[in-house]
Amino acid sequence: MKRIYIIIATLIVAASLGIFLLNRKSHAPAHNTTTHAHHTAAAQTDVQTPPTFDMQQYSLTDPTSPWVIVNKQRPLSPKTYSPSDLVVPSIPLRSNITSTEQYVRKQTATALEAMVAAAKQAGITLNLQSGYRSYNFQVTLYNRYVQQQGQAVADTQSARPGYSEHQTGFAADLGGTSQPSCNVEACFGDTPEGKWLAAHASEYGFIIRYPADRDSTTGYVYEPWHVRYVGTELAAEMRAKGVATLEDFFGTGNAASY
Ligand SMILES: [Zn+2]
Repeated sequence: MKRIYIIIATLIVAASLGIFLLNRKSHAPAHNTTTHAHHTAAAQTDVQTPPTFDMQQYSLTDPTSPWVIVNKQRPLSPKTYSPSDLVVPSIPLRSNITSTEQYVRKQTATALEAMVAAAKQAGITLNLQSGYRSYNFQVTLYNRYVQQQGQAVADTQSARPGYSEHQTGFAADLGGTSQPSCNVEACFGDTPEGKWLAAHASEYGFIIRYPADRDSTTGYVYEPWHVRYVGTELAAEMRAKGVATLEDFFGTGNAASY
């Protein structure tokens, strides 16, 4: 009997050592393996391994995180959250835009400025229709929708206060100049501005947050004008994998309703 225990103990030690060595190898800094790639066969294998995407790099719940997921199942925490670094981006603004909607977070502003400048180079003029919306602004907006259309219809078009991505400062509704009547309408997706945005938003760290026919997942119908800043790394990864929604990418579940 004693011999069996010794064999089991030996196996456990051997397995632990194996796991330890494997971990060491996978955590080895990339520049080491690149520099010494020609030295050993093992190092060459490392060089060929594509870098893995770190799914836990940023919080999905912290409202200051560029990866925060806000939907009908995931309100902001706290619901009255307000970003501390709101600025007005140096891009064209809708002529009658309200004072609060001109703002977005600093990171969002920098990315918007780069994207709108690149669009301009391609002969496309984008403007900001709506950026940041405070909790109180959303109270007024949502109540107006409810009064006009009833709560059921209002919930498909306007977020309840504390549930709007616009409150994070990472979201922006963009419009164009070629067909102003399509601004903040589904037909924006067919305009040159909408097409350019769909093709290039990810290069600047944005996703089209509410793709067509995905309301059972996101809770909203197609909004080709609503972009969400998530950073270039995540936007590129979602595009490469062909995953259109944050809910699907991170597996947080459907958010069709409250
Ligand atoms: Zn929007």
